[in-house]
Amino acid sequence: MAAAMAAFALLHALPAHSYLPMGDGSGGVFVSAHWQSTPIPIEISTNVSAVGTKLQGSTSFQTVIQNSLNSWNQAPNFQTPLGTVTTSTAQAPDGTNLICFCTSGVVFNQNDGTLALTVTQFSGSQITGANIFFNPNPTGVCFITDSNASCANGTDFAQDLQTVATHELGHFIGLDHSAVVRATMYPFAPAKETQLSWDDVAGASLLYPKAALDVGTGGISGTISKTGAVFGAHVFANPTGSNNPFGAFPSIRKTPIGTLSDLSGNYTIIGLPPDDYVVYAEPLDGPVLDGNVAWAQDFGQGSVMTDFTTRFH
Ligand SMILES: [Zn+2]
Repeated sequence: MAAAMAAFALLHALPAHSYLPMGDGSGGVFVSAHWQSTPIPIEISTNVSAVGTKLQGSTSFQTVIQNSLNSWNQAPNFQTPLGTVTTSTAQAPDGTNLICFCTSGVVFNQNDGTLALTVTQFSGSQITGANIFFNPNPTGVCFITDSNASCANGTDFAQDLQTVATHELGHFIGLDHSAVVRATMYPFAPAKETQLSWDDVAGASLLYPKAALDVGTGGISGTISKTGAVFGAHVFANPTGSNNPFGAFPSIRKTPIGTLSDLSGNYTIIGLPPDDYVVYAEPLDGPVLDGNVAWAQDFGQGSVMTDFTTRFH
């Protein structure tokens, strides 16, 4: 069985539109990747010596990661695959699903603003392991663990660590980047945003749906075509009503929910809670670009199609 790896960088961007699972579309039909066995054991390294003064704040690394895990574990409509957390002092991958400021296992480019990387191992469409590596020396940035903290170097940008951890855990469970700008899985980190969005919840519950949904949802599907099928259009449903269907989950933010069209131009957006929606189709031509998502690669294509203009109905 083929083994593959995927890595997604969360980029630091100033300032800084869809849920998208990782998976395989090589047969023309997209198959989402899932963890082979759940619950997933997780190891947090409490050894943060590699990050030095680039980590500031009174809250511990372990607590920040646990807070991020809690955000996913408590998400509506989502049967969390995340399991028991243990701790270690590992500074290199050790065969566990390690979350760390590691000194080896991944090499960060010192000239970019990469904050963290999640490296995932696959066997076919099964996820067999993953590590989350935080960059111990991000250029022009430091990590803070509480809002009162500031960087040791006054010119560094203070990046909330939990914001980054929550994003990386989305990759860890099997989500690709989202082109929905306010989604947790958007590839560029805001200074602080620790709450999941409707888009993230839709993606998580697509992969690991709760048997009895907390909030009933529906779907919208269609086809994007120009002279022929449009592959890789970003199609998103923007909620325009005043409903608050996730009101019992006050930590969930209302955002559009989106996806990308497949090789036939077909799209299906599921996980839509009750509201009114306007559906848009737009090219993936910025701020999120083809290179930020694995969609074209998943389908064995060179790139998604962007030679069209935004439409909505
Ligand atoms: Zn990412």
